[in-house]
Amino acid sequence: MASALTEKLSRLVKEIRGQARITEANVTDMLREVRMALLEADVALPVVRDFIARVKGKALGQEVLGSLSPGQALVGIVNRELAATMGQGQPGAELNLAAQPPAVVLMAGLQGTGKTTTTAKLAKLLTERRKKKVLTVSADVYRPAAIEQLKTVTKQAGAEWFPSTGEQKPVDIARAALDHARRHYFDVLLVDTAGRLAVDEALMQEIRELHAALNPVETLFVVDAMQGQDAMNVAKAFGEALPLTGIVLTKTDGDSRGGAALSARHVTGVPIKFAGTSEKIDGLEVFDAERHAGRVLG
Ligand code: GDP
Repeated sequence: MASALTEKLSRLVKEIRGQARITEANVTDMLREVRMALLEADVALPVVRDFIARVKGKALGQEVLGSLSPGQALVGIVNRELAATMGQGQPGAELNLAAQPPAVVLMAGLQGTGKTTTTAKLAKLLTERRKKKVLTVSADVYRPAAIEQLKTVTKQAGAEWFPSTGEQKPVDIARAALDHARRHYFDVLLVDTAGRLAVDEALMQEIRELHAALNPVETLFVVDAMQGQDAMNVAKAFGEALPLTGIVLTKTDGDSRGGAALSARHVTGVPIKFAGTSEKIDGLEVFDAERHAGRVLG
């Protein structure tokens, strides 16, 4: 079935028909439709601009201008370029655990994006599929409920949970958990952190300190697929505060087109490693850039 974008472009091309061949101006018109589609998917404007500029060069090649169905040819180029931008064919989807055990994975992101849920999903995946001994800990001292939530979901994951309380300092929790993980021969320590509703300097300072204390082998930025234009600024702030190693795109089962993925990937430059596909503990998949590209375009 043709995508909505392909149909739009095909209509546009019909209007053009009658000319001997399509021109640069026609390609510009078609790219305007692509731009609209990306904006509708909530890809941030600067990211869209940059993307369109890159596609334009390729689109002006023979592949589109000389094609009998230029609309489809252009969608093909856009699709390939989108998938490539989102990391298709690039290695690094698996979690890197190549560190002196325990390998530490630090979870970062705003509140409500799915950090705690994803921590448990990763705990399950590492326990079951990679046969690792996994410890989780929450450094969210502002929300005791979040600590309890991690305890519950870690149990469901079949992993172990390290207790913490709201009276402790996050960095002290991190050090205690790391020490425990070392002494009890855990392979992996997953550290869930506090989020905020918006980026603030105190949050960034805290997570920088956690990073320094833990020296994680993976620092994952968790972003909600439903998040709109603002995803770019949030990703930028986390990317500037921390040496991120990957992105997890959550809530891909929602009805958003997930432009946040493209924005986050664009500004951080790190691979999107996983996609959250449900609220359930096994709802985590290796990110499929090609499939997601099709969805972003609608
Ligand atoms: P945190 O504040 O970042 O730790 O976010 P939580 O892990 O508490 O998740 C917030 C809400 O999003 C919860 O209701 C989760 O069940 C839900 N959630 C997380 N990941 C996914 C996902 O991939 N799909 C769906 N549908 N819901 C998710």
